[in-house]
Amino acid sequence: MKIIIIGGIAAGMSAAAKARRVSKDAEITVFEMGDIISFGACGLPYYVGNFFSNPNYMIARKVKRMQEEGVDVRVSHEVLSIEADSKSVEVKNLQTNEIFTQEYDKLMVATGANVIKPPFKNIELKNIFTLTKMDDGKQLRELAMKDEVKDVTIIGAGFIGIEVVEAMKNLGKHVRLIQRGPRVFNRIFDKRITDLMQEELLEHGVELVLNEGVEGFEGTRSVQEVRTDKNSYKTDLVVIATGFKPNTSFLEGSGIQTLDNGAVIVNAKGETSVGNIYSAGDCATVPHVLKSEDTYIPLATGANKLGRVVGENMAGGNALYPGSLGSACVKVMDYEAAITGINEADAEKMGVECSTVFVKDKNQAGYYPNQQDIYIKLVYEKETKVILGGEILGKNGAALRIDVIAIAIKAKMTTEDLGMMDFCYSPPISKTWDPLNVAGNVAK
Ligand SMILES: Cc1cc2nc3c(=O)[nH]c(=O)nc-3n(C[C@H](O)[C@H](O)[C@H](O)COP(=O)(O)OP(=O)(O)OC[C@H]3O[C@@H](n4cnc5c(N)ncnc54)[C@H](O)[C@@H]3O)c2cc1C
Repeated sequence: MKIIIIGGIAAGMSAAAKARRVSKDAEITVFEMGDIISFGACGLPYYVGNFFSNPNYMIARKVKRMQEEGVDVRVSHEVLSIEADSKSVEVKNLQTNEIFTQEYDKLMVATGANVIKPPFKNIELKNIFTLTKMDDGKQLRELAMKDEVKDVTIIGAGFIGIEVVEAMKNLGKHVRLIQRGPRVFNRIFDKRITDLMQEELLEHGVELVLNEGVEGFEGTRSVQEVRTDKNSYKTDLVVIATGFKPNTSFLEGSGIQTLDNGAVIVNAKGETSVGNIYSAGDCATVPHVLKSEDTYIPLATGANKLGRVVGENMAGGNALYPGSLGSACVKVMDYEAAITGINEADAEKMGVECSTVFVKDKNQAGYYPNQQDIYIKLVYEKETKVILGGEILGKNGAALRIDVIAIAIKAKMTTEDLGMMDFCYSPPISKTWDPLNVAGNVAK
């Protein structure tokens, strides 16, 4: 059995490791065009912001270790194309420029995604960054740590933009966050939650620029000014965080079906529309627990899990991925926010009549120091009260309560079940009626 995996980070290496465990005999080759594998890009904002200083902490597996485990990892090797009829891939060794063909029995596309770079004027100026690769992080950190870099502009107020805000504030910069829409996390979190996030950003001195679309940059060699459709802002450094696009253009002509954004469509086994070719991670869709349509959720969590399922299946197994919920969390300065399942807009699209409840509660007993507010939103089916989604904002570990809601959705629990669920209690940690109990009980 010859297995080829294209891309050696989260989805690809999870697949390689699982395939190795399932089949001792399979010949497993990983082609990775970069020079490292198993790199956790999720750490990049915190590395850039000097929360830690050794970039190698972001590497989970080394090439040598994988090779010792019998996985032939070839870094600096780019797969140029797939020939499904002859079950082969064309590969370029980026160090020698040699191009060769290698055959497979099972193939996995795990090529991830890259930041969408809108056609901003003068985008080629120096000191304009995106943040996905180790090298991006190293260069951005080196520049951002210089004293002469005082003013940083971040374009895009989604997960990565917000994380970079915290990084740059930690380095003592003046931070400007520009968002084309009317609020941060536009259409992702509830307005009541994004209002609180915005207050928090303003309190920390972040210059929040909403409802302005960036058109381009000005400067001689390096960026000196950001121009929007309404204003211009002097700046020393720009980070573009405007969403992701799957790295799948090399699949053109392979017959593999994709969504309009280029994400490879896969089923719960990770199979694509072409026989013996699998995919997972940021380059692919992911089956959803609640939605029947193909969904694109570029997160490390789904990449690792569906990647592992693919590894098992390529090695002869018959595993099924139970589905993602889009569970995600983020730190917004001192707040933590988290989300799972679907919101009202999704429910409407799915033809599901839903109700919602939004509660403000406390995370622990008031007589113990450092009690904090916690905000919880539940989305549930109107008639059955089955829980469909949730959002949480708070401090001191509040975000992790979202995992309870995720389990409740998967188990098809109702708001009444949540209201009476036996959660733990001790004054420094919780309350006799946990805020999740309260949210469940308030839902009518
Ligand atoms: C700054 C940042 C913060 C993040 N934070 C979080 C977080 O907190 N939580 C979370 O869940 N997710 C987070 N993510 C997302 C997470 O990093 C991704 O979901 C995850 O890395 C996806 O893994 P992947 O294996 O699908 O793709 P990638 O990690 O993108 O890896 C794909 C690899 O394929 C290689 N490749 C591409 N094309 C080819 C080719 N033709 N031939 C050979 N190799 C190729 C690329 O070089 C790349 O190394 C974050 C992402 C970023 C950028």
